[in-house]
Amino acid sequence: MSNAFFEVPVAFNEPVTSFAPGTPERESLQATYKKMYNEVVDIPMFIGGKEVFTDNKRDIHPPHDFKHKIGTYNAGTKAHVQQAIDSALEAREKWANMSWQSRAAIFLKAADLLAGPFRDRVNASTMLAQSKNAMQAEIDAACELADFFRFNVQYMTDIYHNQPESAPGIWNRLEYRPLEGFVFALTPFNFTSIAANLCAAPALMGNVVVWKPSNTQIYSAWTLVELFRAAGVPDGVINIVYVDGPDAGDVIFNHPELAGLHFTGSTGVFRHLWKEIGVNIAKYRSYPRIVGETGGKDFVVMHNSADALEVATGLTRGAFEFQGQKCSAASRAYIPASKWEEVKAHVIAQVSDFKIGSPEDFSNFINAVIDRKSFDKIAGYIDFAKSQNDAEIIAGGNYDDSKGYFIEPTVIVTTNPKFKTICEEIFGPVLTIYVYEDNTWEEMLKLVDSTSEYALTGAIFSLDRYAAEYATKALENAAGNFYINDKPTGAVVGQQPFGGARGSGTNDKAGSYMNLLRWVNARTIKETFVPAKDYKYPFLG
Ligand code: NAD
Repeated sequence: MSNAFFEVPVAFNEPVTSFAPGTPERESLQATYKKMYNEVVDIPMFIGGKEVFTDNKRDIHPPHDFKHKIGTYNAGTKAHVQQAIDSALEAREKWANMSWQSRAAIFLKAADLLAGPFRDRVNASTMLAQSKNAMQAEIDAACELADFFRFNVQYMTDIYHNQPESAPGIWNRLEYRPLEGFVFALTPFNFTSIAANLCAAPALMGNVVVWKPSNTQIYSAWTLVELFRAAGVPDGVINIVYVDGPDAGDVIFNHPELAGLHFTGSTGVFRHLWKEIGVNIAKYRSYPRIVGETGGKDFVVMHNSADALEVATGLTRGAFEFQGQKCSAASRAYIPASKWEEVKAHVIAQVSDFKIGSPEDFSNFINAVIDRKSFDKIAGYIDFAKSQNDAEIIAGGNYDDSKGYFIEPTVIVTTNPKFKTICEEIFGPVLTIYVYEDNTWEEMLKLVDSTSEYALTGAIFSLDRYAAEYATKALENAAGNFYINDKPTGAVVGQQPFGGARGSGTNDKAGSYMNLLRWVNARTIKETFVPAKDYKYPFLG
């Protein structure tokens, strides 16, 4: 048998395409978008390597154009969830025993396919399904996902390299095997890359997966299934079902072979799932690993030494890109009174300059929010702000659902530091600002720390290093990703491992070795070369 210690290619961040006017990439993406927009596809589930169609077909519409149909998906039942579990468990032995270098090769190939021939399709499907503009689709579906694949391969080998010391006469080894059973990947609508990574990260470590995507992401999820197939992920390793969440949960959380939950979504749903697992804990063969990245109420704090235009730009990009539907989106800001008029003028100028509409028109910075439910919820918060005496809307405030779910980027200023919209996750293009007196800096930081139940992302803008250092310490529990003089969004795999604590999740840092460690079981092996033959220790003499 030939042997070697293989080194994997050094991971790198996929370069972001500019899509500037006149570039071939822009034309190619526009052509793919048009083609997909004008097709109607019928999207099956994918179980045990088979496409599964049902009589329960549900229409798919772009959020920015909801009278237009781009496809249907085949909704399943609890029986399909059971089939997906059976297929996963059947595939498990071969997959778990495949060499790590073959698993690595599959996901490195997925990265290259994604960066090359799949790029336009994955981007265009994300623009259509989730109403992302070209740039937002590119940094998510193409670049972040390719980064997840490549960096996770590197982190996997870092984990395998991690070995204990050995004393004279013995050899200690640590080996890492996949979890016993299957992993349930339950994924949100807002990031195509997250949906793929919640399946791919456990699979890379040798696990088999049952995946339930969000109903509003199925269209782009299917391009990911095609990508996994093209990259050579074997049948049964990643199975996708389109079943209502509670129905899926009913089968999965009662199954003795549930080995892990890999979840990203809202805090309320995560708490519910954790409870379900807790109630059923005695039914499982092992203690299921629970990894959940959930909601946020992400802050921007300005010190009075900071530059007003830099803060305003951090706010408008941080709060409104992808319509504020990022878990990391800036949704509350604290501005010193001495700088407020200046910041306000820049924020209003920038927000008034945004163009809103379909992602097909590349000049649109803002597109639609995901669905009717979100539209109504966000509009409800805006209406609430309009009706209150302690809040004022200084930009936006309108919404229009005649063609798509469009909501104007809205900036609320409140005199109440516990105003509803500064405490609760809205998950839309709504930013609430509280103006503080400059001499209350320290109390204001305590307020920032205690205002929400979340601790996902946050930013401090300051040109005064003492103030920056003070805020970094004062807010150490308030954000898992903390930014100094930058917006709180846009974490890059391999550079800013992502995740938060408190109500925001288990902080297992997607895109890092910390996440991958959750998907393996370790066995310690101690081997003694010359075993003892006499039970007596010297002290007995
Ligand atoms: P969601 O919680 O509504 O849905 C997530 C998934 O759970 C979906 O697949 C959904 O169908 C499923 N689900 C919902 N209720 C269920 C139930 N009772 N049983 C089983 N499954 C159920 O979240 P969403 O609206 O898709 O995504 C937005 C949320 O995700 C926001 O709260 C956002 O902050 C969070 N998010 C967090 C991160 C992070 O890294 N922290 C990243 C992206 C999104």
